[in-house]
Amino acid sequence: MTETNERILFLSPTDENGILPRHALEALGAAVEMAAKIPGSTLTVGLWGKQTEGAAASLAGCGAQTCFAVSGDAFGDARYSTDTAAAEALVKKSGATLVVAPATSRVARALPGVASRVGGRIDTRIVGFEADGGKLLVKRWYYRQRMAATLTRTHRPWLLTIDGGVFPAWKGEGAGPAVEAVPIETSSAMTRTKVEGVEAAAGSAQTIRPDADLLFVAGAGWTKKQDDGATHVPEAEKTILEFLERSQASLGGSKSLVEQGGEGGSVLSFMTHLNQVGQTGASPRHPKGLSTCCHGEEPHVVGWRFIAERRAVNKDPGCGWARGKADVLYVADAFEVMAKVNALLGGK
Ligand SMILES: Cc1cc2nc3c(=O)[nH]c(=O)nc-3n(C[C@H](O)[C@H](O)[C@H](O)COP(=O)(O)OP(=O)(O)OC[C@H]3O[C@@H](n4cnc5c(N)ncnc54)[C@H](O)[C@@H]3O)c2cc1C
Repeated sequence: MTETNERILFLSPTDENGILPRHALEALGAAVEMAAKIPGSTLTVGLWGKQTEGAAASLAGCGAQTCFAVSGDAFGDARYSTDTAAAEALVKKSGATLVVAPATSRVARALPGVASRVGGRIDTRIVGFEADGGKLLVKRWYYRQRMAATLTRTHRPWLLTIDGGVFPAWKGEGAGPAVEAVPIETSSAMTRTKVEGVEAAAGSAQTIRPDADLLFVAGAGWTKKQDDGATHVPEAEKTILEFLERSQASLGGSKSLVEQGGEGGSVLSFMTHLNQVGQTGASPRHPKGLSTCCHGEEPHVVGWRFIAERRAVNKDPGCGWARGKADVLYVADAFEVMAKVNALLGGK
């Protein structure tokens, strides 16, 4: 093994409570693993936010000797000018050769600019890495999870953002490293953009839960005519919402279902395009998935790539799920199955 002089910086903003959210702790877990795999490397932490002291405890045991921090009111909100200024100062202060940060929307917006300012290179949404005799090889997907690539670079600093739901979140116990403040002058031009508030998308905001253990997918079948020749959309809505409330599952939808509103069909009022799973939708990460009234066609199932255990309920024994796409297919009426499941959950 070749000894390297890699200086790894775990870099992240703190959240509105001054702590590190789960995605950031996952990126910290990746940085710790990287430091362990690259011989001769060191790990440092760089945080910025309105408050940063509260995050120090979650760094305990990560192996970093120093935590550099940019703190103050100006650094609380996600804003390109202050985020890039803070991150640039932290990268320079640490002398980092490798920067590991969570691929949150806030970081994704600021970090490419930081890479340019520090003369570095950046690769985003990293899902894995190996260290081959000290040489770092990182993995990412291309073309909506169809092609997996392994990349390496000799250029330093090399900035990497880590995808969510891939690495285990770091669990620190005890006291964290000492925090060393990195002062930054903020000009009025830097704070000209003000964040007035956060407006969540209506409907899907409460139904998309990235941290849920279960992805529950509703397909167009919920709105189609049933055996009695009629549709039962209000009953479908009630059943699905009751299940989501009781199970705290995250809600996904098929393309056919989310598009029905635009086509004048019967729609589930809480279903939006943000819920769509599949080739032209999302590829969420959950340990389990349950598909209901959804045919399981390939353009939909491709969005299930990161769902570990898959089950489906469909009346059609010849549906796509039956062709090796689900671990278990219940050939049954989803209205009946989910009513029974809700009753069981209610009796818990
Ligand atoms: C370029 C392209 C991109 C696409 N991208 C996506 C994408 O991102 N996501 C996506 O989802 N699709 C995508 N599609 C569309 C995809 O091919 C399918 O058309 C779509 O997924 C079908 O949705 P569905 O299974 O909900 O509806 P349907 O095909 O109408 O299936 C409804 C199912 O419900 C079942 N059902 C009905 N009643 C019940 C009941 N009471 N109990 C149990 N089962 C019942 C039926 O047996 C049937 O299998 C894409 C297509 C193309 C061409």
